[in-house]
Amino acid sequence: MSQQTSSQEIQSLDREHHIHPFSNTGALKQQGTRVIEKAEGVYLWDGDGNKIIDGMAGLWCVNLGYGRQELVDAAATQMQQLPYYNTFFKTTHAPAAKLAKAIAEVTPGDLNHIFFAGSGSEAVDTIIRLVRQYWCIEKKPYRNIIISRENAYHGSTLAGASLGGMGGMHKQGAPGVPGIEHIRQPYWYGEAGDMSEEEFGIACAQALEDKILEVGPDNVAAFIGEPIQGAGGVIVPPANYWQEIQKICRKYDILLAADEVICGFGRTGNWFGSDTLDIQPDIMSMAKGLSSGYLPISAVAIGDRIANALINHDDDFNHGFTYSGHPAAAAVALENIRIMKEENIVEYVANDIGPYFQKKLRDTLADHPLVGHIEGVGLVAGIALMKDKTNKTPFGDDVDVGMICRDHCFANNLIMRAVGSRMVLSPPLIISHAEVDEICEKAKLCFDKTLESVAE
Ligand code: PMP
Repeated sequence: MSQQTSSQEIQSLDREHHIHPFSNTGALKQQGTRVIEKAEGVYLWDGDGNKIIDGMAGLWCVNLGYGRQELVDAAATQMQQLPYYNTFFKTTHAPAAKLAKAIAEVTPGDLNHIFFAGSGSEAVDTIIRLVRQYWCIEKKPYRNIIISRENAYHGSTLAGASLGGMGGMHKQGAPGVPGIEHIRQPYWYGEAGDMSEEEFGIACAQALEDKILEVGPDNVAAFIGEPIQGAGGVIVPPANYWQEIQKICRKYDILLAADEVICGFGRTGNWFGSDTLDIQPDIMSMAKGLSSGYLPISAVAIGDRIANALINHDDDFNHGFTYSGHPAAAAVALENIRIMKEENIVEYVANDIGPYFQKKLRDTLADHPLVGHIEGVGLVAGIALMKDKTNKTPFGDDVDVGMICRDHCFANNLIMRAVGSRMVLSPPLIISHAEVDEICEKAKLCFDKTLESVAE
């Protein structure tokens, strides 16, 4: 397509031919889309020349920010040498092998073995298949139930949507994948009533034990959770929650899976959310920040227990994707990890920009009449918008406060996402103090405008 194609032409092509993910197709065709043309650092530019600050790092993924020439060069160099080859038939290549080692080095515990896929959803599907295969190898094929949580997000393939706890997705994807059970989410601010955080942490973990006993401990393969729920609205569990969950998993010999697609690669101030929340998973999915979103790639890090079962089992694991370990994507991910180490990105989030961001958000927004609660760790945060913050009264179904607020953000060149009535932020990890200030000031302005809109 010629460089001269105008924004209007692109919008028109889009309207005619492009069905967008997670969108109201008819409404979008009416309203039209905003064309994003280029990006640098934490900023995007649209077709009308507006400069937009990206408070979401794309979809929680552009961790090193836009315009990193090293990542572009890594892809180009690899594409010239070997743009594609598979890893199915007793072959490998340098980017996949080196990346597997690089991931094993930064993951916690004995997650020493890496399976590659193309997206977070594929990584989650891989976890389902791997843990079930593990129990088959162990001659306990009846252990096939996977327990997940309400309001969890684990992807949009049939298996990912079934495993996730998003009601809206379940309604549209039925019938779901069998053998999946859900328990309550650890959303203290929204669901604890009068319970302290500690009491609520125990109650939510107890829900896991109750479910295990209900379905029979011998029938459960694994429990899966995001260390901090992301797409559910950035929900940070009570401090004791994961410890209790782990105790219960160990008691019944149930595998523990951490879905690190958002939390992984520095977002919470450690390489993984599991480090931040002191989780020792048997298996872990990752994507997004693995390549800073420059090319699609995901991985499952597998602990020795599951990997050894596969290694000692003299049969194929019948699972894989054409793009498992794609050389160009793997080369970008390898370079991404190298830069993260060279520039001490994880330390920057842990000791500098993460604490700064969390404090600035609270200093700027906590007193706002719409803001009921702010929670977050490192460079991820969720803000609950309430009708009456003192009495904790939420807005009714007639006021889509999140969408109103998101539209004000959009109009004021701030990308902030709405999840129901929660506003969420997850900016690139290379963001500066001044850019954090800009996000917070713009958010305040947009909350003011939202307050005016809902008063009308
Ligand atoms: N798991 C989690 C925790 C996620 O946040 C996401 C995406 N937001 C996925 C899985 C699915 O990833 P993808 O969209 O790359 O398939």
